[in-house]
Amino acid sequence: MPTRIIQQSGRHLPFLNGSIRTRLILWNTAALVILMSVLGVTSRLISMKVMMASVDSELVRSTKMFLRPPQFPPPTEHRPAQQLASSGPDSDNVYRELFYNQDGAHAIASDRRPCWDTVALKRALKGETVFSTVQIADGSVRIITLPSFTPFGAKGAVQRAYPLKDILRAVASITTTLLLLAPIALLAAVWMGTALTRRVLNRVHVMTLAAKTQRSFSDRLPSTGNDEFSELAGAFNGMLADLEIAYSHQREMLERQQRFTADASHELKTPLTVIRGVAGMGAGRATLDERTRGAFADIEIAAESMSGLVQDLLLLARSDEGHVPEDVTELLLMEVVTSACQLAGEPERVEMNVEDPDMIVMGSHTDFNRLFRNIIENGLKYSRNTQKPVVITLKKCGETAVVTVQDRGIGIAPEHIPHLGERFYRVDSSRTRPTGGTGLGLSICRSILAGYRGKMGIHSAIGVGTAVTVTLPLQNS
Ligand code: ADP
Repeated sequence: MPTRIIQQSGRHLPFLNGSIRTRLILWNTAALVILMSVLGVTSRLISMKVMMASVDSELVRSTKMFLRPPQFPPPTEHRPAQQLASSGPDSDNVYRELFYNQDGAHAIASDRRPCWDTVALKRALKGETVFSTVQIADGSVRIITLPSFTPFGAKGAVQRAYPLKDILRAVASITTTLLLLAPIALLAAVWMGTALTRRVLNRVHVMTLAAKTQRSFSDRLPSTGNDEFSELAGAFNGMLADLEIAYSHQREMLERQQRFTADASHELKTPLTVIRGVAGMGAGRATLDERTRGAFADIEIAAESMSGLVQDLLLLARSDEGHVPEDVTELLLMEVVTSACQLAGEPERVEMNVEDPDMIVMGSHTDFNRLFRNIIENGLKYSRNTQKPVVITLKKCGETAVVTVQDRGIGIAPEHIPHLGERFYRVDSSRTRPTGGTGLGLSICRSILAGYRGKMGIHSAIGVGTAVTVTLPLQNS
């Protein structure tokens, strides 16, 4: 079944691709900055609005008091306008009033102060009460303009102004305090967020570490408490338990299979030897007719190939069981390869190219003979059509010995290369050929190499040839 990877939807910003911890801290900080900005702006607006409302009600209160009966004091021509203009806010913290006639002209002729808000004045003369904020020489002022009678009893309008200097100063100090406190609050929140995130993610770290150091399916992840993490650990542990059961079933089956192969191969060895012996004798008996002798010879050939197959199977079964050969010793690699060459036959078609003759490896002579013999035999077998030599190169590469067997024969199609070394795997076309073997040769090579921390690589091209590279760790490396 193909592996299914659950895709996560949503796009990610490149700088947020770090660890969850970094992402959480960044998101928290961003959320805090936005929240604090909104809070700051809102509180500034609200405090401004509240203060303006209280100024307005103060203007209404003071203006009503001022207009209370006796509403119109006797003409105050004795109060010079300059004095009014320069006097600044009166005891109510309000600028002295400006009276206007119905035509918009100053009701007190000596008042030289300019109108504070002409638009509001026009509206007030039409009967409206208007609040406005304007800028005058002294700074910002809040103004109430409403219809009224002039001190001389004529219909007109009056304007009173409340200086906003103190209020604006208070709002500015609130803003300054917020701006000063914001970075401190932000730092404190980031610090606390980081500590909290670390504390929470520490559980994940502990679980990751436990999962990484897990050596077998019987190990379990720590699962304490009753939170989401312990739930996750519980689910993971459940999966491990299932895997443990499946794995032990699998291992049992494999062991049974290996035992069967080993037993069957072992049991087949003796009867096959008998068959080979009897068939050999029959093939050589002169008293028998030629047809019968030929039949005996065929039986002998078939028994020989069967006993080769049985030996291969026995070897693989032993290596599956982790059987370690008894004759492991230091070997001069060049010597082993040369003797494997002799055993493979056709030594005259082999060219040796030894760059480092002194390479020593640890291993069993029997195993390495078998390993190189299989590879060289293949090289010779599958280049018989071209009769071109098989070139064997021995060289040192760092702390490893590298042996390459290169032939210029039929080659192997790329789709087969990943399967070479699988038991009984043969490239199809070779089955019908006289060269076709059992398909166990390369899997024996792989299993021998696995026992000595060696590796095998195959490069090939159809019609060009094949290069099999064996890498073995050097002794004393
Ligand atoms: P066999 O005993 O059939 O040769 P191997 O495991 O040694 O089994 O090889 C598996 C298959 O790989 C062979 O059947 C053959 O088709 C192919 N093969 C191996 N070596 C070579 C080579 N040098 N050139 C071409 N084909 C090769």
